[in-house]
Order: sequence, then structure tokens, then C-alpha cells
Amino acid sequence: MARERLYLFDTTLRDGAQTNGVDFTLNDKLAIARMLDDLGIDYIEGGYPGANLTDTQLFAQERGLKATFTAFGMARRPGRPTSNDPGLAALLEAKSDAICFVAKSWDYHVRVALETSPEENLASIRDSVRAAVRSGREVLLDCEHFFDGYKANPQFALACAKAAVDEGARWVVLCDTNGGALPHEVEKIVGEVVKVIPGDRVGIHAHNDTEQAVANSLAAVRAGARQIQGTLNGLGERCGNANLVSIIPTLKLKGEFAERFDIGVSEAQLKTLAHASHTLDEMLNRAPNRHAPYVGESAFATKAGIHASAIMKEPATYEHVAPDAVGNRRKLLVSDQAGRSNVLAELDRIGLKVDKDDPRIVRLLDVVKEREAVGYAYEAADASFELLARRVLGEVPSYFDVEKFDVNVEQRDNALGERVTVSLAVVKVKVDGERLISAAEGNGPVNALDLALRKDLGKYQSYISGLELTDYRVRILNGGTEAVTRVLIESQDETGERWTTVGVSSNIIDASFQALMDSIVYKLVRSGAPA
Ligand SMILES: [Zn+2]
Repeated sequence: MARERLYLFDTTLRDGAQTNGVDFTLNDKLAIARMLDDLGIDYIEGGYPGANLTDTQLFAQERGLKATFTAFGMARRPGRPTSNDPGLAALLEAKSDAICFVAKSWDYHVRVALETSPEENLASIRDSVRAAVRSGREVLLDCEHFFDGYKANPQFALACAKAAVDEGARWVVLCDTNGGALPHEVEKIVGEVVKVIPGDRVGIHAHNDTEQAVANSLAAVRAGARQIQGTLNGLGERCGNANLVSIIPTLKLKGEFAERFDIGVSEAQLKTLAHASHTLDEMLNRAPNRHAPYVGESAFATKAGIHASAIMKEPATYEHVAPDAVGNRRKLLVSDQAGRSNVLAELDRIGLKVDKDDPRIVRLLDVVKEREAVGYAYEAADASFELLARRVLGEVPSYFDVEKFDVNVEQRDNALGERVTVSLAVVKVKVDGERLISAAEGNGPVNALDLALRKDLGKYQSYISGLELTDYRVRILNGGTEAVTRVLIESQDETGERWTTVGVSSNIIDASFQALMDSIVYKLVRSGAPA
């Protein structure tokens, strides 16, 4: 039997960006968009062109994505022609494959918030959709507060959706904007809607205010909706949006859905899900939720005892899905077996061929465990892991030695009588028996150290000239005065390759230095620099 296609629409960059404390830069948005694209998401909503500088810039450039890149914005303002609406003009000018309008579908909101008539609201939907269809874009309509609107006035809510479809909108998306709907209500109402509008043109956009966003999304699919909107890790304002990281594996791995539907995420892409989820957390400088379904560190961790020994014999006895299907790992607290296979899988991924019985594997595993126990996070720092593995396997040349470094922070009055803080770093390195001394000033101690370290590496300078630090993140582990600092540094080179390195110390400069050194050495290894 042919399976029906379900479409995934990610709104992390728009709705997810509404989360308290989340502020995506243009680079963050591009990085997340690439990650979503690699995951196999069908639609990526980039943001709200015209509403802020980041989103305007994002929509001014070519992004080279396979996914349908979608601009979001309001339907034309009531009482105003489409030709005289700057918001609508910005949407039509944006470089996007699709346009998603949001419009009211609850008569109460039309009256109270919009202060206009139901007829004018419908006309606004029709005019906006028509203008966007004419511009050659795929068009979607987000029907705001659809479920509350439907409960209050089903004819009007349906008329809003129908108006968009009649004008050629590809999708109408039923939004549970305040997140208050429950699964049985969603299933019933979507069931009514698809009698009027074909299900393959209906989407669901659920918020998580009663912790039902994932359940509501699945209920909508059961009732006939064929597009699901959500965000990575359920990011979103208040209690968040429907979590695609939970929805995707459910659709792929649970019989009722897997047998009936296809999604754009392949089995191989599904295996990168845990990594994508953790990468977003790292970008936001948040500790990943250990108990997150499917991808959390504890999702497949079973305490020692009878359970663990049963799992060793037959994993299916206690696990609802296979952890590696979503790129997670089984954690058994009684045995090294799981860690060993993880390390082997990592070595394979970075292309290091090692026999599985090689005694150095056990040694590498011990070193990783020791270091993770004191705060290193190798899952987040792929380049540091690779260097560690290469070192244990005896493959990293010692290119140069840092004999000494010195970082100075000074606060004083400048010539204009303003209070300024300046940092100066001096680094002594030895390259090929030659001693080189570099000094640099920076806007902070780590910046000064980085500049001094990369200023003159003798014969290696040409290999690192394209190296650039793109992100620097600090996390204080275990709090208090005994706190340990973990630094993660993301670097990029002239080819666009990105990598992350880690350093851990009670001293933040020392932790930063370790991560900087790893980044430089990794680049030298990757460039095939001679020893
Ligand atoms: Zn929303």
C-alpha cells in the first residue's frame, strides 16, 4: 500500500526565537537552517522579514537550502489596500520560496483585537493570499486561535480557512495559539475541517501549554492533517511549541504512523537527531535536558541490576525503540560495553580505522571517562575528541610548544579621561627549535591570548591564516567557589568547515587556552601540516 506523505514545517527560527532569553544572530539562524535542512525538514520558517534587521538580512540573501524557505508575516492590515501595506510589501520582496501569512480566525479576536468586521478579515485573507500567489510563491495561512475560534463560531473559523484555499493557498495551518486545546478536541475539530478542506492541505501548529503539543499534533494527523509544525527541542514562548525532536522519531518508528506515512527524514538522517538537538542546546548555551524523550542522555539509561543484565541479553526487553535509531546511546551503568561501541562508532565516523579488539580502545575509553568526569564534554566538542583519539592512537605530531604565556588585564583612564579595561597577552612558542614571541592587545583576556597565539607560528602560519573563531561559550559547572569552568570554542576556516573544541579548568583563561590550542592543532592536522 502506498504511504501518504506527511510534511514537516520547522518554526524554530520564528516561533522558537520568541523564547525568553533566546536571541539568534544571523549566523545562528543560518547554522540552524543548515542543520534543519540536513535533517530532512521540508519547510523552514526563517522569520519575519521587515520586522527586524536580522530577519531582513536573512531574507536578502541566497541560502542554498533544499527545504522550502518560508517568510512569515501578517495578512494585510484591515481597511488598507494591499498596495499600501509596508509589512506585506516586505514579505513580497523577501527572497523566499514560500510565504506564510498569519490571520485571525476567531470572531472574538477580530472584533476585540483587530476592531474590524468579519467580512473585512476575510477580505484581508483573500487579498493577501492572492497577492502572494501572484508573486509565484507557495502560500500558507496560519489560522490564529483556530481551535478556540472553531469552538466559538465554527462557520467563521472555517470561512477564514476556506477563503485562503479558494485563493490558491497550498496549506491552511490550524493553530492552537494559546496551547489550551486537548487531543480529543483537536482530533474532533480537525476531523470536521477535513470534510470541507482536503486533509493534504491542512496543517497543525500546536503550543505546549497543557503539555499536549506533541499529542495534539499526532491527533491532528490521525484526523487527516498532513503538515506538522513544530520546533527543535520544543523551543518557543511560554511552555514552548510542539517538539519536532519527539514527533519525528514517533512518526518514523511507531507502527501506526510509520506504516501509513512517509516523511522527508530518512533513517540515516534520523540517526543525527540527537546530535541536532544537542547542537541547538549548545548554541543557546543551555544544558541539554537529560530526560528528553528519545534524545536525552537518560532516555536509554537503565540502572544496574536485573534490568541491565536483561538489556544486555536482549535490548528490546526494556527499550521502546533502539537508541541508535535516533543517534542516542544505551547507557548501562554496570558495563563498559556501551561506551566501547560508542567510541568505536565515533572512530569510524571520523575515519580512523582501528581493530575493535585493539587494546588502545580501552585506554581511549578510560581517558574519555576520566576527562568527562571532570567536566569535558566530548559530544559537543567533536574536534577535541578527534584529537584525543588521534593522540591515544599515537598520530598527532607535536607541531609547536607553548613555553609560556602571560595575560594581563589593566583598568585605567585613557587619554580622554574615560575608564577603560585593556588586556595584553604575550606568548612564547617554540617552532622547529626557533623561539618566537608574540604580543597582542584584545578587548578581553581571551581575545588577547587568541590573537597573540595565532600571530606568529613560524612555518605553520600559512596553515592557520584562514582560521577564525566564530563562537565562544562558557559554562560554570557544579557552582560555588570550587566551580570548574568549561569553555567551548567554535572555529571556522576558509573552506567553511566548522569544528568545536573544549577546555576545562578552575581558571577560565587556562580552560580557554586549552580550547584555543586544540582548535589550532586540529586545523594543522586537518590541513596535513608537516610535523
Ligand atoms: Zn505559534
